[in-house]
Amino acid sequence: MHASRTDAPALARVRAWIEDARRVVALTGAGISTDSGIPDFRGPQGLWTRDPKAERLSSIQCYVSDPDVRKASWKSRLAHPAWTARPNGGHLALAALEQRGKLHALITQNIDGLHQMAGNSAEKVIEVHGTLRSVTCLTCGSTGPMQDTLERVRAGEDDPPCHQCGGILKSATISFGQPLVPEVIDRAMRCAKQADVFLAVGTTLRVYPIANAVQAAFGAGAKIVIINAEETPFDGIADAVIRDSIGAVLPDVLGIRDRDPVDTLRRDE
Ligand SMILES: [Zn+2]
Repeated sequence: MHASRTDAPALARVRAWIEDARRVVALTGAGISTDSGIPDFRGPQGLWTRDPKAERLSSIQCYVSDPDVRKASWKSRLAHPAWTARPNGGHLALAALEQRGKLHALITQNIDGLHQMAGNSAEKVIEVHGTLRSVTCLTCGSTGPMQDTLERVRAGEDDPPCHQCGGILKSATISFGQPLVPEVIDRAMRCAKQADVFLAVGTTLRVYPIANAVQAAFGAGAKIVIINAEETPFDGIADAVIRDSIGAVLPDVLGIRDRDPVDTLRRDE
């Protein structure tokens, strides 16, 4: 079943599942943030798809061994679109779903922190690829706010070392060549199995192991709803597949179009 905004019966069916659900679990990918101006690195037009060498250059091995790679990384972090990005209708719809008490977990492949900015609580958000909004020391593991370190870069430190131990600092994200955090993946899989409705939003579902969350939810009896611009390997087991602008369609899908989700946007960010 391929719905669009004009396919009202399909949308109504998904809305009814959401109405009945007690534990909705969402898995979001880059596609939910492109409307907020965050580029998609792995999509068809993504930076890394067009230039695979750029992804290898961003690998942890290059980062650790080459100070010039670190200096270039800090420059690009300073200029990252996340600092000026605002949550869009898709993020706000998921925040409104949490306000309704239906969101069990929000698993995200994104590092931009826009779900929290939209109003989702930190406890609900499972960031499987980490977050750009913190830094971590590769030697002692201490962490801190990204903005504090960016201040040091602005003040002239082109490769700021850890204040605790002098080690190399990096954004608290999972780089190419870096292992995922097993506890985070385990929690995501556990939550997926507890879902009544599992929403995959803006993800190609080609990055493993997290794509396995769809199969896990399906195996545990959840309704599977996939909202993505392109086909995914899991479309065949989905109860509904929707190809549409996420920011436009997600409020409809979640049945919160008339509930003024904009109120959930934190004004103090
Ligand atoms: Zn350190």
